[in-house]
Amino acid sequence: MIKHGEEELAHVAVGTVSKYLSERIPRYTSYPTAPHFSAAVGATLYRSWLRALPEDARLSLYLHVPFCRSLCWYCGCHTRVPGHRDPIDRYMAILEREIALVSELAGGRRVVHAHWGGGTPTIVGPSAFLAVMSLLRERFAVEPGAEIAVEIDPRRLDVAMASALASGGVTRASIGIQTFDARVQRAVNRVQTLEATQACVDRLRGAGITALNVDLLYGLPHQTVESCETTVAAALGLAPARFSVFGYAHVPAMKRHQRMIEAAALPDGEERLRQEQAIGDALVRAGYVRIGLDHYARPEDALVQAQTRGGLRRNFQGYTDDPADALIGLGASSIGELPQGYVQNASGVRDWARSIEKGEFATVRGIAITREDRLRADIIERLMCDLRADIPSILHRHGFPPGFLDAERSGLDTLAADGLVRAERGIITVPESARTLVRRIACVFDAYLRPEEGRHAVAV
Ligand code: SF4
Repeated sequence: MIKHGEEELAHVAVGTVSKYLSERIPRYTSYPTAPHFSAAVGATLYRSWLRALPEDARLSLYLHVPFCRSLCWYCGCHTRVPGHRDPIDRYMAILEREIALVSELAGGRRVVHAHWGGGTPTIVGPSAFLAVMSLLRERFAVEPGAEIAVEIDPRRLDVAMASALASGGVTRASIGIQTFDARVQRAVNRVQTLEATQACVDRLRGAGITALNVDLLYGLPHQTVESCETTVAAALGLAPARFSVFGYAHVPAMKRHQRMIEAAALPDGEERLRQEQAIGDALVRAGYVRIGLDHYARPEDALVQAQTRGGLRRNFQGYTDDPADALIGLGASSIGELPQGYVQNASGVRDWARSIEKGEFATVRGIAITREDRLRADIIERLMCDLRADIPSILHRHGFPPGFLDAERSGLDTLAADGLVRAERGIITVPESARTLVRRIACVFDAYLRPEEGRHAVAV
């Protein structure tokens, strides 16, 4: 368990690490990371991977809804704003067909976790949501204690939808706040008052959904340390169980709507680091425990318990205690993870729909995982989750000789000289003060990483 006290508030000096702040590094929600997926993995291979899932495999489901009522300029998700209701209804009908297709090969297996992401999943409305939930229960063995999570845009959640979420079995809601600074909100096209957010929280709790997460962002245009602190203070008043704190990733070459954001108004790397530290410090002072890189949870939360027993995991939704053996992605652009590798559906709704309507999977990219990928993924996941990796024992567990990763040593030596990492008898530890830069340490073990300017978010 992470100690409370002075060490938690200690930070690596901004000046010492400034050379790392503008480096573009993956978030390591998977390894190999998504830019290394290729067309070598398609629908046929996915079909065979699904068919090979053991009968007792526990499943996690991810359902993607790529629609929103309006577009936030900072958004990095696959989403769009439909002009009317029809595309949403069509999408949900095809999503049901995709669930049926998957269930022909992997149905009946236990589901321990389901996550509705987007986009704004609640845009589908009560009846479409409940229809999909009951189809999932019909085709899979959704466990009574399964966590069913949904991402919420608090500006759009009415009482009827909150109550539908509860009757569909939703146990956790992630509420997007990002910032309460009105100037920043205007600059990113997302105006959201504290009052509207509080009303949403009340609706969810009133419906019986009490496990609440709050998402905050730093590094937005015009954002300052002070405005981050004011936002955290207001968000703490909502008393969520967990916080996620992400840095805005400005990649306008990949996300065209981000061109609406004035680049000159964006904080630089050092200011981003200060904002991240200010938010983290405020949450720790309020009694939340740091989880991995960017999550915070109350001491009694399941994520803290998972971290304590070394059972914390990292997947496309961030940090989790999800024990599933496979993740099934449903919907356009969704990613799945099977024991053999990763698969991703076509990102465009039309392409995805065309395949599913023909009775075929919409898998267009992916990667088959090698034995060495598994080894490196294990090291990277332990670093991202525990800030520690016992390299000799991980090598042994995966059947590799002790000297297999000797070439990585020089990369670690440079980081050690800057105080970002300690290495003793092969056990790598990231000091609490360098937690924010853990991705920089993890990337030493990434065999795929090449300088790919613009593909990944900056290091902080
Ligand atoms: S509501 Fe969420 S998914 Fe939709 S545009 Fe805004 S940030 Fe993106």
